[in-house]
Amino acid sequence: MTPMRYRFLFAFLTLAVFASAQEIDRSKGDPKLSEYWSPVAPVVTPGKTSQEPPSDAVVLFNGKDFSNWVSAKDGNAAPWTIEGDAMVVKPGSGGIKTKMGFGDCQLHIEFRTPAKVEGESQGRGNSGIFLMDRYELQVLDNYNNKTYVNGQAGSIYKQLPPLVNACRPPGEWQTYDIIFTAPRFYSDGRVQSQARITVMHNGVLVQNNATLWGGTEYIGSPVYKKHSDREPITLQDHNNLTAFRNIWIREL
Ligand code: MG
Repeated sequence: MTPMRYRFLFAFLTLAVFASAQEIDRSKGDPKLSEYWSPVAPVVTPGKTSQEPPSDAVVLFNGKDFSNWVSAKDGNAAPWTIEGDAMVVKPGSGGIKTKMGFGDCQLHIEFRTPAKVEGESQGRGNSGIFLMDRYELQVLDNYNNKTYVNGQAGSIYKQLPPLVNACRPPGEWQTYDIIFTAPRFYSDGRVQSQARITVMHNGVLVQNNATLWGGTEYIGSPVYKKHSDREPITLQDHNNLTAFRNIWIREL
């Protein structure tokens, strides 16, 4: 045969093998039967970086004002201060909480503990993010700072220590990316399903779909008390000048 004929023969054999392979696949069933095409996932435009809010996020703090926040104590104007693009705890003024309530959510929040190190253990850069006003993800300066492990940065306070210590040095901005599943309750108050949380601290996994045992308690064991399916997010005043910025949330 001429070289051209060899080429034709080769192409023909390749096609024949391919076709018979297809035939074998089809004999196992129709792959289309296990595809579905709706509902179509909504299109979300991501931020330019993973820190920037995507198009469907609610921006809770954009560096300018407290329009989405009130005093956790009395519901009046948020008593903290704005410095640059950050909000800073005003020690002794009490916490602040969002005007809106949230349940299942993805929350991005950045925080900075004071550059000047004062105090030790729980006294260094302490604040906290209370999901649903009662489940605290601890904010603390644990860079070369020992404390009880279930109360360190990245812990669910007094319940779940973080998988690792991913703290940056004091004075540097840090991130929490949180995925929270709210607890569900029966109408009589019993727990139908516990809350769960996943947390990335500076991009490092510190809580992996962990199960919460109830609301955060300073003394005693955590316990669930029935609440509504949307509650505010509260930031703690723990008498330290901890700062927050770039806070956004996606309801799930
Ligand atoms: Mg705290």
